[in-house]
Amino acid sequence: MPDHGQHFVAIVGGAVAGSVAAEILAGHGIRTAVIEQNKRPYGKIEDGLPRWHAEQCRQEYARIDERLRKPGIYFVPCTKLGRDVEFRDLCENWGFSAVILANGAWRDRDLGVPGCEPYVDRGLIYQNPFIYWFNHKNEKDYDGPRYEAPDETLVVGGGLASIDVVKILQLENYGRALQARGIQPSLPGSRAQRHRRDLQTARHPARRVGCEGVSSDLPPARAGYAAGATARECHARSDCEN
Ligand SMILES: Cc1cc2nc3c(=O)[nH]c(=O)nc-3n(C[C@H](O)[C@H](O)[C@H](O)COP(=O)(O)OP(=O)(O)OC[C@H]3O[C@@H](n4cnc5c(N)ncnc54)[C@H](O)[C@@H]3O)c2cc1C
Repeated sequence: MPDHGQHFVAIVGGAVAGSVAAEILAGHGIRTAVIEQNKRPYGKIEDGLPRWHAEQCRQEYARIDERLRKPGIYFVPCTKLGRDVEFRDLCENWGFSAVILANGAWRDRDLGVPGCEPYVDRGLIYQNPFIYWFNHKNEKDYDGPRYEAPDETLVVGGGLASIDVVKILQLENYGRALQARGIQPSLPGSRAQRHRRDLQTARHPARRVGCEGVSSDLPPARAGYAAGATARECHARSDCEN
């Protein structure tokens, strides 16, 4: 990659949008630091999609990995904008030419219906935690919220995400019906099992799977804060397990 040495751009979020932005900029000789709050840069692909999308997930993981491996792209995991790095600080003091927000759709938008708040997780369930529960509920060490998926559930919204939620409700219902007849239903392996397998076959080791090697190749003047804070804090933090 030609390094024109002029621009260095920060990208917040390392998933589909962030990795594509980094790749495009790399193609123009512009270096980027991709700041990701999690260990792994897969965003919604990882736990926004129900677990039957196994093959699609694997393909998307590989695409993201390939983009982030390109020269001039420095992946900085376990670093959250707003917690580890202040927005104003990033914009004004780090010397980046630009900051691109590719922080995506990992949190649900509030329903916005007055009075609905007390019902959250008590009958009113947002899609992200629901999919996460579905993907992980059968794992031995799953200790997150547990949801019911009763018949005659109302799904609010009619996009792709809603269709997946409807499918989960159907699967849960069919599963219950089959179990009642003594048949054990089965679905593709759990996320945790696949994560372990993916990590074993990962091709760009330290940059992707942990904090250790994270920004060792980041130019020191730019990376000092991120590398130090990231490596130190990541080991101490439980919210950087993803
Ligand atoms: C249920 C469901 C089904 C879908 N089905 C399909 C499908 O079949 N086909 C398809 O093409 N698309 C599908 N999509 C859409 C697709 O998953 C998303 O459009 C795409 O993954 C979004 O990518 P993104 O990079 O914009 O955002 P995200 O994947 O949300 O990535 C944002 C990244 O930013 C990071 N981040 C957020 N905040 C911070 C912060 N403060 N500091 C640092 N990092 C941060 C997050 O950790 C995350 O890694 C589906 C989505 C859902 C929810």
